[in-house]
Amino acid sequence: MLNQSISEVKGIGEKLQAHLHELGLFTIEDLLFYFPYRYDTYEIKPLTELVHNEKATIEGVLTSEPSINFYGKKKSRLTMTLQVEQFAVKAVMFNRSFAKKQLNKGDTITATGKWDQHRLQITVSQFKKGEAKSQDPIQPVYTLKESVTLLTLRKVIKAALEEYADEVEEILPEETMLTYKLPDRKQALHQMHYPESPLMLKHAKRRFIYEEFLLFQLKMQLLRKLHRESTKGNAQNYDNDRLTDFVQTLPFELTGAQKRSLAEILKDMKSPYRMNRLLQGDVGSGKTAVAAIGLYASITTGKQGALMVPTEILADQHYHSLKEMFAGRANVVLLTGSVKGKKRKEILRSIIDHEVDIIVGTHALIQDEVDFNNLGFVIVDEQHRFGVKQRRTLRDKGLDPDVLFMTATPIPRTLAITAFGDMDVSVIDEMPAGRKPIDTYWIKGEMTNRVLAFIQKAVEGGHQAYVICPLIEESDQLDIQNAVDLYHQIASVYEPNISVGLMHGRLHNDEKEEVMKCFAENELQVLVSTTVVEVGVNVPNATVMVIHDAERFGLSQLHQLRGRVGRGSEQSYCILLADPKGDVGKERMRIMTETNDGFELSEQDLKLRGPGDFFGRKQSGLPEFKVGDMVHDYRALETARQDAAEIIENDSLIKDERFKALRDIIEQDEHVNGEILD
Ligand code: ADP
Ligand code: MG
Repeated sequence: MLNQSISEVKGIGEKLQAHLHELGLFTIEDLLFYFPYRYDTYEIKPLTELVHNEKATIEGVLTSEPSINFYGKKKSRLTMTLQVEQFAVKAVMFNRSFAKKQLNKGDTITATGKWDQHRLQITVSQFKKGEAKSQDPIQPVYTLKESVTLLTLRKVIKAALEEYADEVEEILPEETMLTYKLPDRKQALHQMHYPESPLMLKHAKRRFIYEEFLLFQLKMQLLRKLHRESTKGNAQNYDNDRLTDFVQTLPFELTGAQKRSLAEILKDMKSPYRMNRLLQGDVGSGKTAVAAIGLYASITTGKQGALMVPTEILADQHYHSLKEMFAGRANVVLLTGSVKGKKRKEILRSIIDHEVDIIVGTHALIQDEVDFNNLGFVIVDEQHRFGVKQRRTLRDKGLDPDVLFMTATPIPRTLAITAFGDMDVSVIDEMPAGRKPIDTYWIKGEMTNRVLAFIQKAVEGGHQAYVICPLIEESDQLDIQNAVDLYHQIASVYEPNISVGLMHGRLHNDEKEEVMKCFAENELQVLVSTTVVEVGVNVPNATVMVIHDAERFGLSQLHQLRGRVGRGSEQSYCILLADPKGDVGKERMRIMTETNDGFELSEQDLKLRGPGDFFGRKQSGLPEFKVGDMVHDYRALETARQDAAEIIENDSLIKDERFKALRDIIEQDEHVNGEILD
């Protein structure tokens, strides 16, 4: 049985079992389907063709007995000389003193390891006695944690394959495999670990990619169907006159794209099914405006609405703008983590008593202590941080509101529709009229006097500027240090004539708010900041955005940052300070200077970065796959989507025995399971 514990597999004792658990491997099935991320082929190349500092395999004859040095506790270094071609190559092995006994002068050995071209030296990670036969199998390389070695993992996976692979059953219908010429599951499994040839491997991968995508799409589309069927009866029959009246008070005419999206949202609201919709649009395209209209529609039915955003700064901003927008029409309240004590109690009471109509806050809004009276509409800004679990929390409170997700990560439309299988998607792909495109410049290197003078000029013209600090990868601490240094540097140039502010993630919330408030009120003219200003912040008077180390940001993030300016009627500028080393980096800077259109940008980024590295994938909330790559294997994903649609539509998943195996897997999925049980 494949769902037995890995401890059943030959060679897995208690200790190893625990280590394998760390890798997420619990059952025999987990082990069998732990696929390599790459493969080693022991191809012997002439020494002159080896690449310095890269992995290489060499074959040679030992010209001396290995010598060994011990140092520290349990540490050793084994050194030997190999005759390879006409060269004497030094081979070094660490902490493998046992190998000394196995190796003797005159032996032929094959060693794999890191190659040092200058010293003609190899640091051996793997070796075997004897020649490297070219028919040696392609060897799998797995993702590891320190506690498990590659050899161990290979051994136990091989053991599992030998003992249990026969139990692996086909899950795809025969017709499907015929249509797409896919190998059967058992065969493909063997080929994934020990491919007989690159071609066989390709087909095996193709099979598992399709299988993975099909399961994903079936799950998404089934969930969508279950959602719909489970929520009959929550039609919101909003008051059209009041809504029209409200829209007319807005100081602008909606764009065509806004009108289209709004119509889609209102249709969902009126329908007896619960809305589960993603509203996509570039920064400043007017998503919030559209969402707010939806919110008001719900208010006219006597319900409450909530807006959830990722940060307190944003919550604060939205609170103020909604309050202004709904003045005299609805009561708006702000609830974040920093609202405490008596005030908090009072707000919570006013929510449950329905004295307030609209609640703005961070995602903490759905915490246990918050009880809504009659929640009809929820807007979630930045979709990725709000998952199935939160939705479940709402439902557990007996709430089944229409939910609108907003995201400013422009994902190419085709990709979005395919990737968010359980959501409907609306796209605002048009900017309000009268926006001046932001002029973007790319300057090589550091912040110069020229840039400082440029900022000064903008400030003297009554405007404001952001300066985004260099980004140090994975080091919050250093990022902040950078921000502080840069702040002092800039302040020393500008002050006292120009006030400079500093913003970073370690400031307390009230400090952050204070800084943002000062900036919004133009008491600060220049704001030095880490990327915390990335999302949503709206100060229309800011017209200059300077980004240090721009090459370290993804296109999407640069675009988000740039979106902080160009929000008013004045001409805005974005200055990218960057010294990209590679062509891709240069290309990215060029693209930034050439387009202001987030969708265009995302298409370009897609092409540029290629598979496995699509910008902001984690940020965007796009699903992650084990074998398949959504971008690279886009066609397979689309095929799977269509196939899944047909299967779900015809109810084949439930009725047709050929889909039984797929059905069984999907029914075990916790999300589907939860949905069925609910
Ligand atoms: P997003 O949420 O997509 O970033 P917002 O809804 O916050 O965009 O809109 C950005 C700014 O543009 C706001 O100041 C808003 O009042 C304004 N705005 C929204 N829609 C329009 C429109 N159709 N015409 C002009 N200005 C608009
Ligand atoms: Mg509805």
